Amino acid sequence: MVRMNVADAAKCGLLLVVGSLFAHTVKGGELRAGAAKVDITPKLGVSLDGPISKNGPVTGVHDALHARAIVFADDDTRLAIVICDACMIGRDVFDAAKAIASKQTNIAMDRILMAATHTHAAPRATHVGTEPADDEYHTWLAEQIAAAVAQAEKNLAHAQVGWGSFQKPDFIRCRRHLCEPGSVGVNPFGETGEQVKSVSGTSSAIIEPAGPTDPQFSVLSVQYADGRPLAVLGNFSVHYVGGYQRGFVSADYFGHYAAALESQLDTDDGRPAFVGLMSNGTSGNTGAIESGGKKYPPFEWMKVSARILAEDTQRILDSIQHRSDLSLAMQETELELGVRRPDAARLDWASSVLANPTNKHPHRWSPVYAQEAQHLSKYPPTTKIKLQAIRIGDLGIAATPCEVFAETGLAIKRESPHPATFHIELANGYGGYLPPPEQHKLGGYETWPARSSFLEVDAEPKIRHTLLSLLQSVRAN
Ligand SMILES: [Zn+2]
Repeated sequence: MVRMNVADAAKCGLLLVVGSLFAHTVKGGELRAGAAKVDITPKLGVSLDGPISKNGPVTGVHDALHARAIVFADDDTRLAIVICDACMIGRDVFDAAKAIASKQTNIAMDRILMAATHTHAAPRATHVGTEPADDEYHTWLAEQIAAAVAQAEKNLAHAQVGWGSFQKPDFIRCRRHLCEPGSVGVNPFGETGEQVKSVSGTSSAIIEPAGPTDPQFSVLSVQYADGRPLAVLGNFSVHYVGGYQRGFVSADYFGHYAAALESQLDTDDGRPAFVGLMSNGTSGNTGAIESGGKKYPPFEWMKVSARILAEDTQRILDSIQHRSDLSLAMQETELELGVRRPDAARLDWASSVLANPTNKHPHRWSPVYAQEAQHLSKYPPTTKIKLQAIRIGDLGIAATPCEVFAETGLAIKRESPHPATFHIELANGYGGYLPPPEQHKLGGYETWPARSSFLEVDAEPKIRHTLLSLLQSVRAN
């Protein structure tokens, strides 16, 4: 059931969609839920972010990083959703965390969704080009993520759940710009003819955004049976907000949104503390907009925007109908995909760029992409990625390890068999950017082969179709 709450929408200037999770009841068992958070802030010296933006090593902490977990249980299914303040987390770290968590709890490894938020003022826990301090951090990180799951399971209590959403188009922009043919500068490989200017690149003639954005902010609300807030999971599709200072750790607006909800909704009544969570939707091609064209000092807009989103969230919580008589389901699968490894000509180009570091290269990032070509040449020809679908009552959640474009998220929402669906990216590993084939044709940063963009050109339709069948498979009978 979906109903438009026109009066509230008019009152707060938001388009509201509120649903109830009523259709699929459980016989002889009530829904239970528990939530917890643990600290995952790295020590000084651990590497921050990646080889391109070079923000590390850690020299200070602006705000702490956390892993936040919710465990749901009905009579048949027990599952966990964990959101981690990290730029990205590799499959090996997440698998290690799941193995520890499943030993310490009654939750199977394939009933756990773990995702990174994509704050860029945090480590990339992917075991690529890392130092010993990073390996030590990755081991500890897996233990801490598992500890969040174990504590959330200990906190299980009778619960009720509901969902809603509002629109926030003025917070998002498409960061890939479609340009007139011939107006885009050469790419790092010295090639001409691209038609998109993105994060890095120049163009004399921008036509329009190269793709849509998904402005829907989805909210999953979890309460104790008596209505006291237990946890809220937000989902929004902004890549990250940024405005960092080099060397300083921050959870970006993801952590500030969670913290704002925690300070607004916790009641300190002797029960486990309320936990706020913010997951990243499909933001591979989107960026944040600073409100009103104002330039904020470092770390400021992430706080202000998080507070606005937390207030909007709180405003819809009262309209959400919570139910305890609903069932859970979860499925995961592995999909084998080709890797865009460099050919012999690309490897020759990479060797010549790296052999002549002082030469003038076609693009300021040519040496970076030459190194990336060498890294990719060591990748296997195919790789397996993990895809998941969860159903909580009538709400569907899909999860992909990639940085997924907005058009993919919109298609999943449109074609999902569930009345409401959202998608969590950077989940269960790291599969790089996922441009649809037509975006690959246009070029731009997100399509340039690197450890941050390595899946075959046709990966997006294959992943999208698999996610839609997974969403179908978790439908209630
Ligand atoms: Zn990214």
